[in-house]
Amino acid sequence: MPGHDECRVARQAASEEGVVTASQENALLGRLPRIERERVEHYCTPVQLAAGDALNSDSNDTASVWFPAGALIAEIAEGGTRDALAVGLVGNEGMVGAAAILDGGGVSRRLLVQGSGAALTMDAEGFRRALHDVPRLERLLRLQLHASLATYAQTAMCAAFHQVPMRVAYWLLETHDRTPGDRFYLTHDLLSQLLGVRRSGVSAAAGALQQQGWITYTRGRVLVLDRKALERASCTCHEAARAALAPLLEAEAGHHIGDEIGARRLARAIEPKPQPGGDEAPKVAAHRR
Ligand SMILES: [Zn+2]
Repeated sequence: MPGHDECRVARQAASEEGVVTASQENALLGRLPRIERERVEHYCTPVQLAAGDALNSDSNDTASVWFPAGALIAEIAEGGTRDALAVGLVGNEGMVGAAAILDGGGVSRRLLVQGSGAALTMDAEGFRRALHDVPRLERLLRLQLHASLATYAQTAMCAAFHQVPMRVAYWLLETHDRTPGDRFYLTHDLLSQLLGVRRSGVSAAAGALQQQGWITYTRGRVLVLDRKALERASCTCHEAARAALAPLLEAEAGHHIGDEIGARRLARAIEPKPQPGGDEAPKVAAHRR
């Protein structure tokens, strides 16, 4: 994985204005007009997160809000010492941690870094101040919470009723939606933890997807070859998760570089499904750069 400076250089090269900040890489913050975004940035600290990092793991006193800008963060519901289930995945489109601060009742979900990358973070006090200073942030937060609540319910239903192979395809799609290319890193071991199932079940499902030629999956390295086939292999939860996110992704945006970057990154997540007989060009080709 490239270092932070290399990432920054790459972002600068991609920017028409020459400079892209981490908050602009986060599409939610990128929806704020520049002056308001800078006000929120005032309370933020840029960090690099590594896969496997546990965030907000202690108490509500240390709860923070996280705005991914390259990182992927899974929200984990826990019960007992070993029982765990990922109930949501958040990338550059949103934020995590706000519920723990707003409800004041302690951390109800563990935050686990699924994919390494940059993020902006702010503590509870900074978050409250930012909400006070920038009312538009509260509207975006409500849209994020709406999406999160819908996803929690969907994931509970998924875990109870859907078969492991469909759930594996669903989570690979959720990850692909939030990845700029077609390659990402996700071990069978971590995927089995996220789905709350045996590793052998994940390996069997992943092996079947690979045998069909829809993905390659070696030592945690996933390459999506046929996105549409993966969508057909998934349960309907992926489509439902997209629908839940739509109000946030379609929230009004100012005209600045952050929105352009966010729009490109998120096009995959809100792209309408083609109608039968329509343009069936493989998605894998459509979003290559
Ligand atoms: Zn499902």
